Amino acid sequence: MALHHVEHPLIEEVLAELRDQSTPPERFRLLSRRLTNLLAFDASHDLPSRVDKVQTPLEEADVKRLDAEVVLVPVLRAGMGMLEVMLSIFPKASVGYVGLERDEFTAVARQYYRKLPNLSGTFVFLLDPMLATGGSASAAVSLLKEAGASRIRLLCIVAAPEGIERLADDHPDVDVYTAAVDRALNEQKYIMPGLGDYGDRLYGTV
Ligand code: URA
Repeated sequence: MALHHVEHPLIEEVLAELRDQSTPPERFRLLSRRLTNLLAFDASHDLPSRVDKVQTPLEEADVKRLDAEVVLVPVLRAGMGMLEVMLSIFPKASVGYVGLERDEFTAVARQYYRKLPNLSGTFVFLLDPMLATGGSASAAVSLLKEAGASRIRLLCIVAAPEGIERLADDHPDVDVYTAAVDRALNEQKYIMPGLGDYGDRLYGTV
């Protein structure tokens, strides 16, 4: 598995505010979109393109057009905070949904929803902001593969070493793009220092 820790001063600036517990949900949602936008730039750097020609006001120019069928798959519900901006970057993308719930006590992921478009031959962006134990990301990748996906990249905001290791063991073919690699998980399997529960921060729930 290739880990891409995307480091940039603009990313650090957004992360600082996302981590701050006093950041309210409306601001958190905006920052989520901003950070996803910055990550998307790196995470799409190797998408294929085809050569084309356009007429500029002065002469004909050789140009390149994106030539990839993109599928966006947010893991409910936190991944929804990353979907809208990804759709604005890839307006023709299809969208699939995966609902995974983390058991509060065992931290094991349970699937409660799945709706996927055709995945064969596509480039799948799995959107899951917190790579903690890696259990839900690994389960999501497994079900995407079962459904025919072969080119999967995971976009997350914060990753823990435990989750990175788990995903590398289970799915060495998946590229992970993250804005931060944090210290460790605590006993409740929250990322430390992290930013708390991403879904709760997005939607103002507790
Ligand atoms: N999910 C979250 O939202 N936060 C964590 O710290 C870990 C998993």
